[in-house]
Amino acid sequence: MSLFYRSTRDDSVRVTASQAILKGLAPDGGLFVPESIPSLDKSLEELSKMSYKEVAYEVMKLMLDDFTEEELKNCIDKAYDSKFDTEEIAPLVKAEGAYFLELFHGATIAFKDMALSILPHLLTTSAKKNDVKNEIVILTATSGDTGKAALAGFADVPGTRIVVFYPKNGVSPIQEKQMVTQKGANTHVIGIKGNFDDAQTGVKNIFGDKELEKVMNNAGFQFSSANSINIGRLVPQIVYYVYAYARLLANGEIKAGEKINAVVPTGNFGNILAAFYAKNMGLPINKLICASNENKVLYDFFTTGEYDRNRDFVLTTSPSMDILISSNLERLIYRIAGNSAEKNSELMASLKETGKYEITADMKAQLSDFYGNYATEAEDAATIKDLYETCGYVIDTHTAVAATVYNKYKADTKDETKTVIASTASPYKFTRSVMEAIDPKYASMGDFELVDKLSELAKVKVPNAIEEIRTAPVLHNTVCEVSEMTNEVKKFLGI
Ligand SMILES: *Cc1c(COP(=O)(O)O)cnc(C)c1O
Repeated sequence: MSLFYRSTRDDSVRVTASQAILKGLAPDGGLFVPESIPSLDKSLEELSKMSYKEVAYEVMKLMLDDFTEEELKNCIDKAYDSKFDTEEIAPLVKAEGAYFLELFHGATIAFKDMALSILPHLLTTSAKKNDVKNEIVILTATSGDTGKAALAGFADVPGTRIVVFYPKNGVSPIQEKQMVTQKGANTHVIGIKGNFDDAQTGVKNIFGDKELEKVMNNAGFQFSSANSINIGRLVPQIVYYVYAYARLLANGEIKAGEKINAVVPTGNFGNILAAFYAKNMGLPINKLICASNENKVLYDFFTTGEYDRNRDFVLTTSPSMDILISSNLERLIYRIAGNSAEKNSELMASLKETGKYEITADMKAQLSDFYGNYATEAEDAATIKDLYETCGYVIDTHTAVAATVYNKYKADTKDETKTVIASTASPYKFTRSVMEAIDPKYASMGDFELVDKLSELAKVKVPNAIEEIRTAPVLHNTVCEVSEMTNEVKKFLGI
């Protein structure tokens, strides 16, 4: 064992991977980051002959090196099984000259399943390894997709409970239905009267509440996080970039060592950070293309070097990206600040106090791996329509943000490097927006009528995740004020 994790806000914190997974967030509010990023120790040719699970092991063993081979393989086997509707786990689909990496074949048809189907196993294994006897309480803020994927992952997992907060009016009808119909006595779903940032800030405050921590501990509970701030989320996300590269190589689309671009529709900056880590592990990636919707804080950041959340929060048709505070960006900031907890803390304090911070020219110079741009709502809809009409392929609203930005990137740079677009949700998860983009006449149809119509147009079978909720009863109907979040958690735990 040699890889330790440090906090982005306190140099004295140094923990193993399993401890970082258990804690989720560092005690000082910082995020855990690997002290160094290990290099892949298998060649690209070797990786190109491997299955998804095998690639997962090769990547994760390096980042989570206090897990034994048996522990890790056991977690991987339990995660990437028949919950996925294809053995490939993450298939690549070529359309209009780009490769769409479909990350939505898991239980809840969004890319969050890629990590959240394994996180419960990583977490319970970490608890065992560290002699933790407390029940683990997962606390999660969701902009829609994390919540359901976490609920599905943790439902009925012994030794765990899960509480999910979502913005009551900030998720799609299908996303909400998916969450409020969740089964499992250890699950609790709450709508808050606020937006995603309110939910996320509320959850961070609960994590930081030292009094509550004591009360919890006395009652035999401890918190952990299923949000992408947990490195147990981040590490499994590195896998599919390596796998995508390996598939392109296996299929003769690229030569070994040839660079590819990755376009990632971005919200909390977790998915694209995983791609950045993949690059740093030695995967030949040229540009990391960060795609935003109209909440374009990240685009502005990459262009100006100033991160400024003081602006209106726009509710878009890609709600999982409606975020003004991209938590995982802190990991990148820490790194370009020369792994300085002190410098990073200053910037994060400024973000908390004034809603903004500015990086130095020196730090900005280290962002050349990234390209940022954004898609307006109209552009997003036009991309969905266009792709459907030219090749019959239907993508969801988030993936369309990425596809739009990719088109802008090509127009800007004339770069012809082969490009993988992270396709983060099934169009069925955002049926209404997708169908209305294809033709406004669909606006008058009911949610499930639209589902059937989409199946007809896309020639893709309706996924189980959608079939299931057609008739499922609502099991969760709590709505609370942001100020009541802590009390809701206490009530659920009976403390
Ligand atoms: C969560 C999510 C995103 C944003 O991913 P981040 O890792 O938060 O940047 C994009 N698309 C979909 C469909 C999502 O669920």
